Amino acid sequence: MQGICLVCGMHVSENTRSCPKCDNALDLQHDGSTITVDIAHDGERVSEALRKMQSEIDSASKGVAMRIRLVVGSGLIRDEVLLALRDLKFRGDVRDFESEPTNAGAVLVRLK
Ligand SMILES: [Zn+2]
Repeated sequence: MQGICLVCGMHVSENTRSCPKCDNALDLQHDGSTITVDIAHDGERVSEALRKMQSEIDSASKGVAMRIRLVVGSGLIRDEVLLALRDLKFRGDVRDFESEPTNAGAVLVRLK
């Protein structure tokens, strides 16, 4: 897989952390976009929803999106997701998260 430096347009290989041309930190680059993923409305158990969340965050972190929006519903999954995100934030895997102001059934996670 190949990536592209969003600052200068240089093609870079997947595991390069800073752009060889302009020296920008590639891990921190994002295009301002938000990915939405529903992890709670397909009959998932809590453990399945948490696994889904983790794999979506992992793959989104490798891309250029700034945020991932997790649709979590209003039940137990939501509570567990918020706990898990607190851990991820503590470990530095995500930068921040908050319940969506206009929709308590969704959580916005700031990846970059
Ligand atoms: Zn560059």
